[in-house]
Amino acid sequence: MALLSIVLPSYNEEQNIANTAQVLTDLLEQEKIDYELVFVSDGSKDATYEEIQKVAEKNPKIKGARFSRNFGKEACIFAGLRLTIGDAVIVMDCDLQHPPQTICEMWKLWQEGYEVVEGVKSSRGKEGLAYKLSAGLFYKIMSKLIKVDMNASSDYKLLDRKVVDVLLGLPERNTFFRALTFWAGFRTTTVEYEVQERAYGTSKWSLISLMRYAITNATSFSTLPLQLVTIMGMVSILFSVILAIQTMVKYLCGSSVEGFTTVILLILIIGGFIMLSLGIIGHYIARIYEEVKGRPKYIISEVTENIQGEALGTWKK
Ligand code: UDP
Ligand code: MG
Repeated sequence: MALLSIVLPSYNEEQNIANTAQVLTDLLEQEKIDYELVFVSDGSKDATYEEIQKVAEKNPKIKGARFSRNFGKEACIFAGLRLTIGDAVIVMDCDLQHPPQTICEMWKLWQEGYEVVEGVKSSRGKEGLAYKLSAGLFYKIMSKLIKVDMNASSDYKLLDRKVVDVLLGLPERNTFFRALTFWAGFRTTTVEYEVQERAYGTSKWSLISLMRYAITNATSFSTLPLQLVTIMGMVSILFSVILAIQTMVKYLCGSSVEGFTTVILLILIIGGFIMLSLGIIGHYIARIYEEVKGRPKYIISEVTENIQGEALGTWKK
């Protein structure tokens, strides 16, 4: 019988673990799907890992790992993928905002032979205005950059073992899970789902963390911002040519003393362009620097007993 693994990144979710585990096991047992749940506690400051341990003791199909500190959701997803052994793997939030019923649809599509099933948001659920605007802008820019419609996409998806192995085999440290499955290709289909209200607790994203996430992902997935630097340079050169001609004409006409405003403006504009460009290049150098250091994406400090000992060292790979 095929095994379904579910990866659940959890950060400060002590109130959600027991409930989520219950809801999922009930559903999967009712649907007669053979399953395992893999919770990864992302350096939670509350009792998330202890809660995971509790549910894992009661049900050997539930596994858990704990990070030595907060490494972010991406790292959690990849650690979870690495710990799974299923023939198909679903990644979902552990706050039940991704409706569990969709699992059955995804599972059916997988059985029909699809290798990637993307969860697509039919609505974005209840979100603050600032969040909505910033997330909206982020997805617009990202969609343009990587040429994939990101607005509706999410981290809720099913991957075949083949695809999981491809993703785990990628050498890069800065990953963007959501876009990587598009990049990987394979037989892909989508299912729509309604984003649910959070069961307990609050969203773990602040505006700043969201912005950092956006910049990291944009620079780790696209080199277009770098080309933007070239374009800005070309535009400045064009302007300079026009202004050079104007200045020459003025000089020849004998009225060359004025133009102080133009000089100030030019310095400001070109200075602005140069600094912006340096900033963009700086981001890429930072990415390269991080990749070159070759540090692991995450460090697992503890795993539940039903995970084999060797799993602790798997982050080295
Ligand atoms: N999460 C995580 N590490 C983090 C932040 C969030 O593992 O640093 C997890 C979190 O526990 C949840 C999922 O990522 O399962 C989505 O987070 P959240 O619900 O806060 O985001 P939102 O649903 O508001 O986008
Ligand atoms: Mg959530």
